[in-house]
Amino acid sequence: MDISARKQAEDERALQRVELEHLARLNTLAELSGTLAHEINQPLATIMSNTEAAQRLLASPRPDLDELRSIMADILAADERADAVVKRLRAMLRRGPAMREPLELDALVAGVLDFMAGELRRRGVAPRIELGAPGARLWGDRVSLEQVLINLINNACDALAVRDAGMRRLVLRTRQEGAELCVEVCDNGAGLKAGAEEIFAPFFTTKTEGLGMGLAISRSIVQAHEGRISVRNDPAGGAVFELRFPAHRPAQGAVEAR
Ligand code: ADP
Repeated sequence: MDISARKQAEDERALQRVELEHLARLNTLAELSGTLAHEINQPLATIMSNTEAAQRLLASPRPDLDELRSIMADILAADERADAVVKRLRAMLRRGPAMREPLELDALVAGVLDFMAGELRRRGVAPRIELGAPGARLWGDRVSLEQVLINLINNACDALAVRDAGMRRLVLRTRQEGAELCVEVCDNGAGLKAGAEEIFAPFFTTKTEGLGMGLAISRSIVQAHEGRISVRNDPAGGAVFELRFPAHRPAQGAVEAR
């Protein structure tokens, strides 16, 4: 009896976590909606203008075929960009249990930065990426881990608003330390106005429009990956968030995948 009650409580907690993660994703998507619309509209506009150019070329007596080929390649690339944004949106909107797989840390971090590039440009933030864990992998749920990084980058952008445009820096750094993989998200923004215990607590926010769930959810996702998240102020100004995960050992995946 005792064991089944505990199992039920565990199941309920897991369900609550999935629902909270889903809510946090919806919140992130709402924050990013302007950027997402732009990320889809831009390739659509490229497709439109290239199609018009192709039509003009075709109307000429001897169309330049090389030019046409290059126009078609541009259309294809723009279509693939829009498709990637829509796929990512659908993955983030999906409600469901985490799906674990081996993930290359450097590719994960670079992919998120690529996804956020438009948002960072819009907010006047210059990102730098220092990938120091080539080939190293962790065992995790891609969408949840991307969510954590997106939260940290969004928070960094908010903290950077106090700086003049042109001075807003964001650094993403990865490295492997023995059996651990480490990611740092550093900004030169306002720095932390409260202690680590407070900022990771649910519903703690210093923003007028904040929900205060981003870091609480991020910590729960990181812990579900047997990882840790910590934060410190950079003496030079700004905050440094550090994530640590156990590096994936292939044998572990084989056991869990069965
Ligand atoms: P929200 O972004 O809705 O406020 P979070 O849980 O993501 O919720 O963040 C909680 C609080 O932690 C923020 O309101 C802010 O005070 C602080 N914080 C988070 N990231 C940073 C950062 N990079 N620099 C300074 N303060 C931060």
